[in-house]
Amino acid sequence: MRYLSTRGTSPAISLEEALFAGPAPDGGLYVPETLPAIAPSPKGASLNETALRVATALFGDDVPSSALEAIVRESLDFPIPLARVEEGIWSLELFHGPTLAFKDVGARFMARLMLYFLRRRSREVTVLVATSGDTGSAVASAFHDLEGIEVVVLFPRGKVSVLQRKLITTLGGNVDALAVEGSFDDCQRMVKQAFADRDLPLGRSLVSANSINVGRLLPQTFYYFHIASQLDASEALISTPSGNFGNLTAGLFAKRMGFRARRFVAATNVNDVVPEHLAGGPYRPRPSIATLSNAMDVGDPSNWARILWLYRGSLEEIRRDLLGSAHTDKETLEAMRDVFARTGYILDPHSAIASLGALRGLREERGPAVLLSTAHPAKFRETVEGAIGRSIDLPPALARVLGRPEELAMIPAEYQALKEHLTR
Ligand SMILES: *Cc1c(COP(=O)(O)O)cnc(C)c1O
Repeated sequence: MRYLSTRGTSPAISLEEALFAGPAPDGGLYVPETLPAIAPSPKGASLNETALRVATALFGDDVPSSALEAIVRESLDFPIPLARVEEGIWSLELFHGPTLAFKDVGARFMARLMLYFLRRRSREVTVLVATSGDTGSAVASAFHDLEGIEVVVLFPRGKVSVLQRKLITTLGGNVDALAVEGSFDDCQRMVKQAFADRDLPLGRSLVSANSINVGRLLPQTFYYFHIASQLDASEALISTPSGNFGNLTAGLFAKRMGFRARRFVAATNVNDVVPEHLAGGPYRPRPSIATLSNAMDVGDPSNWARILWLYRGSLEEIRRDLLGSAHTDKETLEAMRDVFARTGYILDPHSAIASLGALRGLREERGPAVLLSTAHPAKFRETVEGAIGRSIDLPPALARVLGRPEELAMIPAEYQALKEHLTR
């Protein structure tokens, strides 16, 4: 399979090239040249069976089946259950991975796909990431213990939650945690400088693992197909809590590949560039606003370009498949409280937005509705406990992480300090 730029003016490249590339030279994002047709999964098919079928259709030309089978098995070594919330409403629990968020799916698959290509070329690399919290922990955990790959994670000291920090600093081994005396923007600037530094005497290449990578985007189609094998209704309304819109883009790709969804809801917090546009307003990217569902605080979602590409720029066609629904922090807290009081089901703030989106969608479309639950409630414990008025348990894996010793280095917010660290 070849990969094209959404802007259409860069040459097509291979999967391997796209995996190690950033944006295309013309400023677009890479997308697969064709979206292969996937037959519906048999009822009761396992997550691994479904994922392997989709992975084979997408990557089978580029990766031999035995390697692909191992990549799928090792990436998806946790369940993705479909839990019943109440009559006609289901929750696809994407948060049972090591960092308790859906980003584990894409990050783990991308890491193992990269490892496959690196081994073939006997190449060793350093993955360099800056994080404001969630992405860094998913990426660090995904690359942890993979041979020939070093991971360096920069995060702003004191500006990530204790849990997010510990998910990065307790890994050890090939994961190097750097607490920067500055802001997330400083971390990003330092990482950019490292990528631009042609004189960095490293002896191995620097690799980025950012959220626009096709290796992270495409595996997110797997779990949409997994819904169909678990739910006894051929067409559900799907509500995806969205920030940078990678998750939703994967859903729309899945639909084009044959996943039968009735319609999708783009559920956002008050960072509502897309819902506003779907409702008839102009497309108006702007600085993000801080909310309780902070992994969705994105004011200029990169993946909108991929959605436009998929629908050849037709907003009318996009609207047929996609409904927008934007929600405030107040509604988010009320949704957590209300769903818990009525059903006993506990939502994290991001999944609560998806739940609000599902209810909004059900005013226009028939059910059942599936909300994508993207984070474990224990990850946002204080907010959730405040909303539902009782304490929640930490999953055992997380409790173990909190007890492990931390390893980190503190560096000033200067590129020179990062450079010295990288070349020690
Ligand atoms: C990243 C994230 C999102 C948003 O996903 P996008 O693909 O960026 O739209 C939603 N919920 C959680 C918990 C996340 O970590």
